[in-house]
Amino acid sequence: MKPLHCLTLYLRPHFTFHFSLFTLLLLLPAWCAALPLDSPPVPGGIAVVKLPEDVAPATLRYRDRKVLVTQQDGEQIAVVGLSLGTKPGRHYIKAQTTQGKSLSIAFTVEDKAYEEQHITIEDKRKVNPEKRDMERINREKQQITAALQQWSTQQEVVIDFVKPVEGPTSSPFGLKRFFNEQPRNPHSGLDIAAPEGTPIRAPAPGTVIQTGDYFFNGNTVLIDHGQGLVTMYCHMNVIDVEPGTKVATGDVIGKVGMTGRVTGPHLHWGVSLNDARVDPVLFLPAEKPAAE
Ligand SMILES: [Zn+2]
Repeated sequence: MKPLHCLTLYLRPHFTFHFSLFTLLLLLPAWCAALPLDSPPVPGGIAVVKLPEDVAPATLRYRDRKVLVTQQDGEQIAVVGLSLGTKPGRHYIKAQTTQGKSLSIAFTVEDKAYEEQHITIEDKRKVNPEKRDMERINREKQQITAALQQWSTQQEVVIDFVKPVEGPTSSPFGLKRFFNEQPRNPHSGLDIAAPEGTPIRAPAPGTVIQTGDYFFNGNTVLIDHGQGLVTMYCHMNVIDVEPGTKVATGDVIGKVGMTGRVTGPHLHWGVSLNDARVDPVLFLPAEKPAAE
């Protein structure tokens, strides 16, 4: 049987196959094991965890952060973001039952090795910022962090995304980065190469929570999709939305550019879940292998 995208299987309402619950539970681990991107749970990935029936969803916490919960066929499922710094091994979601009893729900994170990337940046100030830049950088970091930690209670969260820009991946998520041979934070998003001016579309419904022109990220938009799922768009040429703008899947939020720290025009697309930066590819439909 053809492997299926685990998230798709669980969470797409229009999923057309029908299995008995028992069959589904038997088959799911085998399918997941065959998929390198969304399973097993790895640093920079997500854990899809089935919850006990009597758990109270609003009480779920992973590392003191609220957790996205969705329902499928009457079952509650937690979708947990795992930051790149997550240590392999046993991890626990803390929760309470509807009767107020404390629970620990375990899942196992496996290791993943990410490649190194060495980039040469001509503007040295973008690698070793001057003292006067640091105040701006720190202020912007606080604003961006606050937006990424946004939580809005929302019953229906769409987590099967549409790609915001069509184009080849110029830099995948998770690379260990060196700018001008100096180690920096790993790549926290997916870079999609596209010509300047290409429209950028919202991958799912949400509300714009922040826009800005930042030192490293250039013109940036952040969208809240609900329950701790926030997406980020950087280096834009033009921003077409403002904080408070409600977007539907496919709405244009701006255009591809090369503002901030870049070597060419592209979209840096970030996805954050329970304040963990995770691989955006996990939210896209599995790409068909290229025809031979
Ligand atoms: Zn990037």
